[in-house]
Amino acid sequence: MDRCKMNAVKNSMLIVGGGIGGLAAALACAAKGAQPHLIERAPFFSEVGAGIQMGPNVTGTLFGWGLEKDLQALVCHPQKLQARDIHSGQFLGKLRLGQRSLDHYGAPYVTVHRADLHRVLLKKVVSSGAAELTLNCEIDLKREDDQSITVSGRGLPQGSGETLTSESLVGADGLWSATRQYVVPKMPPRVSGLLAYRALLDVQTLPEKLRTQDVTVWVGPRVHVVLYPVRQGDFLNLVVIVQGSPPQELEDWDHAANKRDLEVALGHIHADLKDVLAAVKAWRMWPLCDRPPVSGPEEMAKGRIALLGDAAHPMRPFLAQGAGMAIEDAAELAACWARFDLSVPLRWQLYAKARWARNARVQQRSIRNGQIFHLQGPLRWGRDWAMRTMGESLMDVPWLYQGP
Ligand SMILES: Cc1cc2nc3c(=O)[nH]c(=O)nc-3n(C[C@H](O)[C@H](O)[C@H](O)COP(=O)(O)OP(=O)(O)OC[C@H]3O[C@@H](n4cnc5c(N)ncnc54)[C@H](O)[C@@H]3O)c2cc1C
Repeated sequence: MDRCKMNAVKNSMLIVGGGIGGLAAALACAAKGAQPHLIERAPFFSEVGAGIQMGPNVTGTLFGWGLEKDLQALVCHPQKLQARDIHSGQFLGKLRLGQRSLDHYGAPYVTVHRADLHRVLLKKVVSSGAAELTLNCEIDLKREDDQSITVSGRGLPQGSGETLTSESLVGADGLWSATRQYVVPKMPPRVSGLLAYRALLDVQTLPEKLRTQDVTVWVGPRVHVVLYPVRQGDFLNLVVIVQGSPPQELEDWDHAANKRDLEVALGHIHADLKDVLAAVKAWRMWPLCDRPPVSGPEEMAKGRIALLGDAAHPMRPFLAQGAGMAIEDAAELAACWARFDLSVPLRWQLYAKARWARNARVQQRSIRNGQIFHLQGPLRWGRDWAMRTMGESLMDVPWLYQGP
């Protein structure tokens, strides 16, 4: 069915981007009466990358959308998040997850393969008929008036002519968002100078003592490594963050990686970690880019266009909340969409006002976490002392995990 042709159909919503954020928005907004049409640039839906962690602020929302059964079949429930020194292997501090997350925050802390989460969202969108889906499609904004927004582009559905008209548009097209330019002046993301090496490791290839089902962060001067289980514990997701120059093709964020470069960048590391990394057959590498923290609601919505997820607030992954914030955005977007007493631009203003400060806080905290993980010299000893003495109270983030 073509919902967005010529005169905007009532409640029509064009969502640009079919990643975790776009699918979450389609699901949440359809449940509140929107008629989303999601367009994705790629010829098929897919998720690159490996694992993601999801805090209770996110799992509670996803379960509320009816995804609990499907997700529980795929996620892992690490019992703790622990920090270790990358050289000595010393345990520096831990945050209990498992039952504590349920008791304190009412929802679990889980780890999951990104493709599994994406598949669960897509399956629900399709099975519930939440949205019309168009692949291999890219659009340009033609005009916006007081009734609707009109776009043209390549790959529009057959029969829709050269343009689509919709009541609203949601930019969920990620870090290199094309829709972002319709809300804020065009500016490329900034290069962080950090590289993320990623791999998935079959735990059966590891000696028994290295098979962990927890989240472990190995911290060291200018480097850190994060390990956690995915795919019901059959695989370990590894992310190694080092300093380095990005490859030229920045927008192509998935690069083949050279193991030797990684070893040089890491330098001396504890034997346990060395053995885990040695078991990896192939690495992929991502140059990390972000944007400065959102500075006000005007950066998240303008007129009939709202931005969501990485399109609005790409962040460093050191608080493990980028996808989480996209999902929180989607929930708020849907709540604001349901304010049928207001015009679409006013609903999007409400959305932006509700979301910008929390997203900015998470962006800032992510940057700070990276700095803390990578401390050197006396500051590093200070951090280790604080973690050993204050442990859980330092590693817990109640304002985040309690939800918006
Ligand atoms: C190393 C690393 C580790 C991470 N770990 C975590 C974690 O543990 N927990 C967590 O919550 N987050 C984590 N993140 C962040 C998370 O991956 C992102 O924040 C999240 O995927 C953003 O989702 P999104 O839907 O906004 O954007 P994307 O996932 O980038 O999706 C955008 C979609 O839009 C499509 N698209 C792009 N341009 C167009 C266009 N012009 N027209 C149509 N479609 C278009 C793309 O093909 C894509 O499908 C991590 C990130 C990295 C790099």
